[in-house]
Amino acid sequence: MPEITGKTRLGCLLGSPVAHSISPQMYNYAFRKLDLDYVYLCFDTSKADFASLVGRLKEMNVFGFNLTMPDKERIIPYLDELTPAAKMIGAVNTVKNEDGRLIGHNTDGAGYFRSLRCTGYEASRAPMTLLGAGGAASSIAVQAALDGVPVLHIVNRRGRSWQQAQRLAEVICRETSCRADVTDLADTEAVTGCIRESGLLTNATSVGMTPAEDACPLADLSGFHEGLLVTDIIYHPQKTLLLKKAEEKGLSTLNGMYMLLYQGEAAFRFWTGLQMPTEEIKERYFDGKL
Ligand code: NAP
Repeated sequence: MPEITGKTRLGCLLGSPVAHSISPQMYNYAFRKLDLDYVYLCFDTSKADFASLVGRLKEMNVFGFNLTMPDKERIIPYLDELTPAAKMIGAVNTVKNEDGRLIGHNTDGAGYFRSLRCTGYEASRAPMTLLGAGGAASSIAVQAALDGVPVLHIVNRRGRSWQQAQRLAEVICRETSCRADVTDLADTEAVTGCIRESGLLTNATSVGMTPAEDACPLADLSGFHEGLLVTDIIYHPQKTLLLKKAEEKGLSTLNGMYMLLYQGEAAFRFWTGLQMPTEEIKERYFDGKL
C-alpha cells in the first residue's frame, strides 16, 4: 500500500449490505497501479442519517462515491447534476465530486452489457426479459434499448418499483426504437410467454442474494428453452438458485461478477478520466470465481 498522507483523498461505497463488496480491492489496486493518491472504503448506511452523511462527504472533499441498494434513488435530491443516462434511468450508482458539485451517473447497464460480451451473446438479436425495476434493473433496461435490443419485457411485482417499471417502459418506447412492456411477476402464464419469446433472461431483482439463497424469482420455469441465456446480476452467491435451475436444464448462464468489474471500470473512468487496469484486476480478483 502507498503511504496515506495528508493529501490522500477518500472515495467510498454507500449502501447496505456492503461488507461483501469486492470494490475496495478493485479500486485500491487500480489506484496503487496508476499511482493515484486515493483510497476507497465501504460504509454501511443502514443506521446513517443519509442527508447529513452526504453533506459530510462533501465537506471532507471526497473524490467520489458509489451507491448500492437501497441508496441509488434516494441520493438524487442531494446531487447538483445528473448525466443524461442517469436522468433517463432515474437512479445513480456513481457520484463524482467536481469542486464541490456532486454529479450523478449510472454505469450498471453499460457494465452488464460489457460483461455479456464475455459469453459471445449478441444483445440486438432477440427479445429480452428483465426481472426487476429497481436501480440496477432500470440502468440495464435503458442500456438494452440503447444497445439495440428490439423488444424488452420488464417483469416486476406490484410493489415499490411498479410505477418505475411503467415509467421506464414509457421512456424507452418514446426515446428509442425498442418496444418495452411491463408484466406482473404474479401473472405466471404471461411471464412464461415473455421468456419463451426471449433470447436473454436477466434477473435484476435481489431475490436469491445471500442470505436468502434458497429463493428463486420465478415460480414457473416452463418458458426455459434451448438457446436461452440465463443471467443473474447477483454475485453473492456466485450461483443463485435461478442459475442452478437453468444449468440443470442445460442452459448457459452468467452471474454478476463481470458486471461488477465493468461497471467499476466505467466508474473509474468517470472519476479519473483514466483506463482502469481491468484485465489485471479481472485475473487477480474475478477469474475462477464465476
Ligand atoms: P433495488 O433498487 O432495491 O431493486 C430491487 C428489485 O428487486 C426491485 O424491483 C424489487 O421490487 C425487486 N424485489 C425485491 N424483493 C423481491 C421479491 N421478494 N420478489 C420480487 N421482486 C423483488 O436494488 P438494486 O440496487 O437494483 O440491486 C438489485 C440486485 O442486483 C442486488 O442483489 C444487488 O446486489 C445486485 N447488483 C449487482 C450489481 C453487479 O455489478 N453485479 C450491480 C448492482 C446491483 P420492489 O420494488 O417491489 O421491492
